[in-house]
Amino acid sequence: MTTNGYYGQWGGAFIPEVLYETFQELNKAFEQAKADPSFWQEYLTLMQTYSCRPTPLTHAENLSRHFGGGQIFVKREDLNHTGAHKANNVMGQGLLVKRMGKKRVIAETGAGQHGVATATMAAKFGLECTIYMGEEDVMRQRPNVFWMEKMGATVVPVTSGSKTLKDAINEAFRDWVTRMDDTHYVMGTVCGPHPFPEMVAWFQSIIGIEAREQIMAQAGALPARVFACVGGGSNAMGVFQGFLRDPEVELIGVEAGGDGLDTGQHAARLAGSDASAGMAQGYRTMFLQDSDGQMLDTHSVAAGLDYVGVSPILTDLWEQGRVRFAAATDKDVLAALDLTMKQEGLIPALESSHAFVQAFKEAPEMEQDQAMIINMSGRGDKDIFTVAHAYDDPSWKEFITKKGAEYAA
Ligand SMILES: *Cc1c(COP(=O)(O)O)cnc(C)c1O
Repeated sequence: MTTNGYYGQWGGAFIPEVLYETFQELNKAFEQAKADPSFWQEYLTLMQTYSCRPTPLTHAENLSRHFGGGQIFVKREDLNHTGAHKANNVMGQGLLVKRMGKKRVIAETGAGQHGVATATMAAKFGLECTIYMGEEDVMRQRPNVFWMEKMGATVVPVTSGSKTLKDAINEAFRDWVTRMDDTHYVMGTVCGPHPFPEMVAWFQSIIGIEAREQIMAQAGALPARVFACVGGGSNAMGVFQGFLRDPEVELIGVEAGGDGLDTGQHAARLAGSDASAGMAQGYRTMFLQDSDGQMLDTHSVAAGLDYVGVSPILTDLWEQGRVRFAAATDKDVLAALDLTMKQEGLIPALESSHAFVQAFKEAPEMEQDQAMIINMSGRGDKDIFTVAHAYDDPSWKEFITKKGAEYAA
């Protein structure tokens, strides 16, 4: 798929000298695992017995009828253990950690979803686990912090800088440098220095492998278009890999449009015009940064899409014209979520709802015998606080206020 971790002019491995040997070791373990069919078999068995794979492909008949165009199919990554595609990546890296004989894992997390997935994997495999999280995020994402701690992880609030994700990333790298011999850093998405983008994409490719077989069986043909939301890009790369070699299948990545692309309050790197080429966090891609290379503040209603960088693999596919990019605004995302709940009884995560927005825009222009796949990266249960707030639901407010009062008493 790649040479030395470069995808066109993107990617690479810009790492501190002290981590050189650790990366060598990781590269070797990954290359050996890839070349060993029994490793992929072990991974499949684990995912089938621990995380509900293969996840179904659901024909959204009501939504298809509603738009009167293409047939909408939903790939159900929400049915993974911990509620999202993140399980594919962390469980795979867990198996690699066992191979390398390491005893401890660390990770950084913003919204907390990757932290929960990593803590789950660590509990299952008996590994020590430390999660770095910006102090701001620890306060905003208490339910996730609660579960991480209950599964035995240590959550370290990071108080430097803006006290959010990028500071947590710095702190996790600082930890890794001091504990390289017994510690593996579990990267959460298809970003960071090589081999992480390729490794995470490999584990996530299970989504596309399944989706291709399922759509052929259920629709009798390849889909005309495949939609996925893009934060770092791992669920998108996962499903896209099933169709990269089929030029007739259009691939569409949907980024966070936030308040709108002209407001500065968004996280659209490839769909907008605010991002520029740069090198940070160990790799080269299009970043939302100012002219001095300082990272800009991003905004999205979906915490998992709120990130300054994007996968170097996707940036290359975008530059080649193989993947088209669009953005969905917060407002459109809530409307798409509402429609999906009412029409199909599905509750997509706010992140995933971005892909639904774009698919809904394009469905009416398609023929009724054309299929489209939406990758539903995760379930929306975690978003109840945000969504109930957006609905301004009075009985929810009363519930929260009462709960608060109970604890205050
Ligand atoms: C974390 C997350 C994302 C964003 O990550 P990608 O690497 O872009 O896939 C998207 N959807 C859900 C449900 C997530 O939890």
